[in-house]
Amino acid sequence: MGNAEINKSCPYVKKCGACHIGERTYEEELAQKKQQVEAYVKKYCPVADMAGMYYPYHYRNKVHAVFGRIKDEVVAGTYEEGTHRIIPIKSCLIEDAQASKIIETVTDLIKSFKIWVYNEDTCRGLMRHILIRKGMSTKQIMVVLVTAGPEFPHKKNFVAKLREIHPEITTIVQNINDQNTTMVLGEKNKALYGNGYIEDVLCGLRFRISPSSFYQINSAQAQVLYKKAMQAAALTGTETVIDAYCGIGTIGMIMATKAKRVTGIELNNDAVRDAKENAKRNNIDNIRFVVGDATEYMTSMSENAEHADVLVLDPPRSGSTESFVKAAASIAPKKIVYISCNPETLGRDLEWFHKAGYRTVKAEGVDMFAFTNHTEAIVTMQRKDRR
Ligand code: SAH
Repeated sequence: MGNAEINKSCPYVKKCGACHIGERTYEEELAQKKQQVEAYVKKYCPVADMAGMYYPYHYRNKVHAVFGRIKDEVVAGTYEEGTHRIIPIKSCLIEDAQASKIIETVTDLIKSFKIWVYNEDTCRGLMRHILIRKGMSTKQIMVVLVTAGPEFPHKKNFVAKLREIHPEITTIVQNINDQNTTMVLGEKNKALYGNGYIEDVLCGLRFRISPSSFYQINSAQAQVLYKKAMQAAALTGTETVIDAYCGIGTIGMIMATKAKRVTGIELNNDAVRDAKENAKRNNIDNIRFVVGDATEYMTSMSENAEHADVLVLDPPRSGSTESFVKAAASIAPKKIVYISCNPETLGRDLEWFHKAGYRTVKAEGVDMFAFTNHTEAIVTMQRKDRR
């Protein structure tokens, strides 16, 4: 099946907006994604072919649906692109299939328990969203029910019924989001069943993932990406490594197995808590994690005359900043591995890195988001004075 077949077999494709596919085949999509990277990176170095998926379906390990009403019927789905109208979705070709079934069950339970769904216009009602995260290799499944307030009528029976129908669920969390916001998750989590997180195994290491922690949504391709990052870093065991924007510490921990010492820096407190726990459970003791801004951390390193041998950065779509690049140059890494989910901000940032004394030696793409326009790339840079 290719993009044209998705066009035919997905009834939601025109309205949903998650897939941007047109009539292109998957091979054409990979070629176009390579061109997208080339548009911003080719002036620095050639771009290798995109590493695509053998079976590019049902890869999303994180699935979200919003609850609402259409006429008098409770529905779960997604917002029609650019609007706040809900399109009910029963199954999706890129999302995990088990997750779709659980969402259907929860929607039925909401009806039978007569729980009010939240109405965005009146800000009344209780059940807002459902988020499902799955450890693709451990098969652990977390269901997060996002409610507008702390109450949850018939909570015990609701959870018991859900577990009875889906014994594969390993944890159920209530997340409270009482803000009038487009963000899915609020700040408070209450485990209603199980330990409140899932685990997954990537590149031989075990990672714990909390409801709000960032984790690559395509586990199979994340391994491809991280292996490429390892090859790019070419560690020998003597290097000090900075993992900027480290999330739950995946890249840093994989690198720690081949480095002298790694420091991960991350803004999100929950992600750092997961990261520290992850280091412990993998018996990795040459890594530490800092909660904070990556730029500030590297600036204070250089003020203390500290440096790093390798810098890995994996920023959000907005990319990095000019002050980050200056701070990075001030700790003088010989090598920089930049993982980017937005070729446009990548191109802008490479310009800054070039001005700061780095040259791009390698660029390649990994397809993490088949059938969408999202493009992931990995770029290796070296300090110019290094031969
Ligand atoms: N490298 C990780 C996570 C990448 S996502 C992985 O592969 O799983 C980007 C992360 O950057 C998010 O976890 C986000 O919370 C964090 N972040 C955003 N701005 C930051 C900043 N200024 N300093 C440190 N971390 C930041």
